[in-house]
Amino acid sequence: SESITVGELAKRMGVKATDLIRVLMKQGMMVTINHPLDVDTAAILAADFGYEIENVAIDLEEIVEAAPDAPESLEERPPVVTIMGHVDHGKTSLLDAIREANVIAGEAGGITQHIGAYDVERNGRKITFLDTPGHEAFTAMRARGAKVTDIVILVVAADDGVMPQTREAINHSKAAGVPIIVAINKIDKPDSKPDRVKQELTEFGLQSSDWGGDTTMVEVSAKKRLNLEELLEMILLQADVMELKANPNKQAKGTIVEAKLDKGRGPVATVLVQEGTLKLGDYCVVGVHSGRVRAMQNDRGEKVLEAGPAMPVEVIGLSGVPDAGDVFVAMKDEKQAKEIATLRQIKQREMELAKHSKLSLDDLYKKI
Ligand code: GDP
Ligand code: MG
Repeated sequence: SESITVGELAKRMGVKATDLIRVLMKQGMMVTINHPLDVDTAAILAADFGYEIENVAIDLEEIVEAAPDAPESLEERPPVVTIMGHVDHGKTSLLDAIREANVIAGEAGGITQHIGAYDVERNGRKITFLDTPGHEAFTAMRARGAKVTDIVILVVAADDGVMPQTREAINHSKAAGVPIIVAINKIDKPDSKPDRVKQELTEFGLQSSDWGGDTTMVEVSAKKRLNLEELLEMILLQADVMELKANPNKQAKGTIVEAKLDKGRGPVATVLVQEGTLKLGDYCVVGVHSGRVRAMQNDRGEKVLEAGPAMPVEVIGLSGVPDAGDVFVAMKDEKQAKEIATLRQIKQREMELAKHSKLSLDDLYKKI
């Protein structure tokens, strides 16, 4: 790949090579004048000296903010669902029950993988579940500007009723403008009181449709697998009302749901594709990282060659580990992907430096 020596970079910037070497030493790099620097390090160094590298002068937002899709290019896509609710009300159990039922109904002996999201099928239609129960993930993603959830399933235990985190979940969903379907769980328990839950929820503006309101509430038992099909049915009905659509015939754009560093495979990220179709071999930019999609698999551990709107896939081939909520943009051009990532690194570094110098200024005032 491209590189430039320390001496050459110093010359181009019009600074002494020894000054450059001193800066590198401070960062823990012991180098000589003939040491080659990769493009990223060179760009960061140049930025430290107040320079911009010529070929990274790309307007980022222009690339990210592509033209809106023509209405005729839009096709129906699956809904993306997040399960929220108070601790111990059964979020994990419900997700597991839905998934297991689906895996059993599908390919026999399918091995499920934890990739942070999965899709299930109901009457030939798909539903994507984000496997990140709890509103922390939801709020964290929203705070980063990522809108991934179409529908919230609010789980309320019928033997416990509305609790603090139930209330928070309702507030978060409302603030995000995401419709709620209530799953009243644990109805197998002898002390369950689903009607009391419905009564309590009316105080939060959620009135059950069988009480003349417009909120769908399904009484379920994750443990006994009761009414799970009905819940899926209601999700699809809600999706129909929302007319969820996306253009599958363009470069993919999506959001990182989960990412980690795998010992053998390097950075591994689950991408929820939101527009376009992600294909094996695509180049991409994700936050401050770039990469190439070298392998993709679904939550059943199956290799996939492409992923369309609302499909979650685990992607291998990124230069680093992105954060949940980072935007993923696929690109045709490797050079462009790298340049954008480098530019973002520089910007991030500038912001960190600005924060740092502001801090020390504050410290200074404190001392006075
Ligand atoms: P989470 O904290 O919301 O993810 O809740 P969990 O799924 O971990 O469930 C908390 C507890 O409730 C566990 O002991 C589950 O076995 C139990 N539980 C979950 N769903 C049901 C249900 O439908 N019926 C009964 N009786 N117990 C349930
Ligand atoms: Mg849980």
